[in-house]
Amino acid sequence: MTSDPAPWEWEFDWHLTNRCNFFCEYCHPQIRYVLNKKHLTEPPPELVVRRFEELGRTCLVHMSGGEPFLFPGFADLCAGLTRRNWISINTNLASPDLVAEFAANADPTRVAKIVAALHVPERERLVLPLETYAESFRILRSAGFDVVALYVLYPPLLPRLREDLAALDALGVEPLRAKVFKGVYDGRRYPEGYTDEERELILANSGDYVFNRPYLDGKLAFPGESCTAGMTSFKVTVTGDVRRCASVPTGYGNLYDGTFQPAELADGCPARRVLVLSQCLAYLVDPPTHASAPAGQEAKA
Ligand code: SF4
Repeated sequence: MTSDPAPWEWEFDWHLTNRCNFFCEYCHPQIRYVLNKKHLTEPPPELVVRRFEELGRTCLVHMSGGEPFLFPGFADLCAGLTRRNWISINTNLASPDLVAEFAANADPTRVAKIVAALHVPERERLVLPLETYAESFRILRSAGFDVVALYVLYPPLLPRLREDLAALDALGVEPLRAKVFKGVYDGRRYPEGYTDEERELILANSGDYVFNRPYLDGKLAFPGESCTAGMTSFKVTVTGDVRRCASVPTGYGNLYDGTFQPAELADGCPARRVLVLSQCLAYLVDPPTHASAPAGQEAKA
């Protein structure tokens, strides 16, 4: 661990593609609806690379979707972006050949983090062995990437959680974190819907994932609190539109067409309920002290 300041000035949470080889039941409804259907005309890698370079700032670009590895020209995109910037990737690790190619060619010193989300029900539906996931995970780690497994705590999985974590451990998948499910299952809204017993199970098996406690404690709004989102951190949609964050749709132009303009000052948070707590804890001017960590590392759930 180091307390050195991050080498980047701005952060982008970029939903770069609607392509996905999974169709998770618990995927955010707005994302699930558009997967593999809408806006499948992604910009060429060189355009995006140029737009980021034109900003004249060093950036950390968190890539999620959809499945980032399915962005057409993903290898070229990563090679271009990491010339001057850093990237992080939120992947389902279900494209073993592309992952192996990436591991052989990308520069690990420019990849801040790879979050390898483990969507157990979908892997079983598609008959994708856990061993294949583990092999890709080990390839990335051996090549020097900071990769972490993230198990999505979908309520029906809780009875088998310990067994699944032990199986992953036996396959050499570590570090491993488990993340609360956000959404509705069986008529109950989560993460509020977990029982006390389930909460205990989750907190005992979270690994070093720091966001479960605040999600379970229910502090899901920061009304009026000063936040740098919109000034130094941004959400980019699949069409290049730049928004304040995952929870606040205030617009700042479009990254792809070169009209993006950030706010000059931090502003109060208008969200009634936040969607991605890690962003708030990273970008609030005066965040709560019980948890802090880099943003953009939550699995999509
Ligand atoms: S506190 Fe959270 S929801 Fe509010 S503007 Fe900041 S990042 Fe967005």
